[in-house]
Amino acid sequence: MASTLPRTITRSDPTRIAIEWDDGIETVYTARELRVLCPCARCVDEITGIRTLDPASIASDMTQSDVRLVGNYAISVRFADGHDTGIFTFPMLREHDPKAG
Ligand SMILES: [Zn+2]
Repeated sequence: MASTLPRTITRSDPTRIAIEWDDGIETVYTARELRVLCPCARCVDEITGIRTLDPASIASDMTQSDVRLVGNYAISVRFADGHDTGIFTFPMLREHDPKAG
């Protein structure tokens, strides 16, 4: 399976996470954009796949305090609201690139 891997993940600014991929593409998320995308069982109904998280409930100035690699396929993010259960896979992070719209 050919999958694009991050070369660097920069989180020097607490409101954003920048990922540079090994094909040279850079994907930049705000912490809030990632928080709204969180795919964990508390944010998305596991049975129906429907998002139960209301984006309006997420602060516009959301920040992250930690980003960790999960195996070689994903990252997890600790957000300022204490939420850290989301696993953001690399394909998902590429697919939802805010710039790509
Ligand atoms: Zn979540």
